[in-house]
Amino acid sequence: MHFDLNEETKVMQDMARRFAEREVLPRIREDGFKRDLVSKMGDLGLFGCAFPPGIGGSGAGFLAHSVVCEEISRADSGLRALFNLQAMTVPYTIMEWGMPETRSRYVQDLILGRRIGCTCFSEPNVGSDIASTETRITDEGDHYRIDGAKTWISNGTVAEVAVVYASHDRSLKHRGLCAVVVETDQPGWSARETPKLGDKSSPIAEIHLDGVRAPKENLLGEWGGGFKVAMTALDRGRISVGSGAVGLAQACLDASVRYANERVQFGKLIREYQLVKGLIAEMVSLVEASRLLVRRGAWLNDQDRPFTREIAVAKYFAGEAVVKAAGMAMEIHGGMGYSLELPVEKYYRDSKLYQVGEGTANVMRLLIADDALGVKKANRPRLHVPGDFRDLS
Ligand SMILES: Cc1cc2nc3c(=O)[nH]c(=O)nc-3n(C[C@H](O)[C@H](O)[C@H](O)COP(=O)(O)OP(=O)(O)OC[C@H]3O[C@@H](n4cnc5c(N)ncnc54)[C@H](O)[C@@H]3O)c2cc1C
Repeated sequence: MHFDLNEETKVMQDMARRFAEREVLPRIREDGFKRDLVSKMGDLGLFGCAFPPGIGGSGAGFLAHSVVCEEISRADSGLRALFNLQAMTVPYTIMEWGMPETRSRYVQDLILGRRIGCTCFSEPNVGSDIASTETRITDEGDHYRIDGAKTWISNGTVAEVAVVYASHDRSLKHRGLCAVVVETDQPGWSARETPKLGDKSSPIAEIHLDGVRAPKENLLGEWGGGFKVAMTALDRGRISVGSGAVGLAQACLDASVRYANERVQFGKLIREYQLVKGLIAEMVSLVEASRLLVRRGAWLNDQDRPFTREIAVAKYFAGEAVVKAAGMAMEIHGGMGYSLELPVEKYYRDSKLYQVGEGTANVMRLLIADDALGVKKANRPRLHVPGDFRDLS
């Protein structure tokens, strides 16, 4: 076992850090989606780590993806949401489960930042229980028709390509679920932005699908096989979300170290007080333990080994850790934590997402405990995917 990053990953880390310092940090107080940053990230190849060169990626792997994602989130956790969609859940799911023509139509455009993607699971009545999806997909002969409503869709107001989960027969529960790629510039697709607590650079939308169409070749996996597609997409998305939690927790620690080294009370720097030191030590431990857990999950994926359990442990731990770290950063900053002059209040607001997105803390707990108790094994043999996209390397 060794913990050093390889040279390629270190180069990606360095590039992502410099990009974040130069382009992202100066604009973190600007709310709203920044299209120019997507293009720049695409041009730099930041979205392409997990993708083979034959489809526009670098083949650097999931560990490199995790490291880059951490750097982006350390600068702006809201941009991490976009990063997850452009660099993982949308294009990877299409690459893994789509037909060759569907892959070539969308994947490269997404990872080069030329088109914006979104993933549509959540609905007004459906959150954790995606087998109960109410959005309906109907086979109309030469195309599919989709009707329903989706909520909480990151990038929903700006996306051009959506992976939509819909059921062809709700009575079949998870066996009725289908995953399909939908283009959003068509009649019947409408999106309205939802105001929210944090991640202000990541627009979230409520979406209505009213007779939206998708060509037959845009089905991902089999008809009724969407649950499997969803599970692989969520596993991989947890690498991004876990990495984002690590990056944000690191930002909380960085800010706290800076402040503890400059704030004087009772005639001494506050770093001299053992209670403050205790908070710093706990933050360091939370950040490093989260990072190791997340990187283990990403590394397992790079080895083509099952990692559902390990990434659930990582995402759960990192999600709890970042919320604690953000609270501690607020404490160390005293009143300044509450001020809009410093980014700590933003970190606090952004942190809560990590206990919710890509499977809530409770859903992670259930998966981890069921595995430990022998109720249900989390790690299964790798699922069969149509076509071998490794020929793209
Ligand atoms: C900022 C943000 C961005 C998002 N982006 C997207 C996106 O791009 N695409 C998308 O599809 N969705 C997105 N979501 C939605 C997110 O995936 C859901 O919020 C999440 O899956 C939980 O669903 P829910 O909010 O309906 O909560 P619910 O599932 O209703 O859960 C409510 C509470 O009950 C608990 N609970 C539920 N079931 C159980 C159980 N069996 N046992 C124990 N506890 C349980 C949950 O843990 C939670 O605490 C986003 C959400 C946020 C906040």
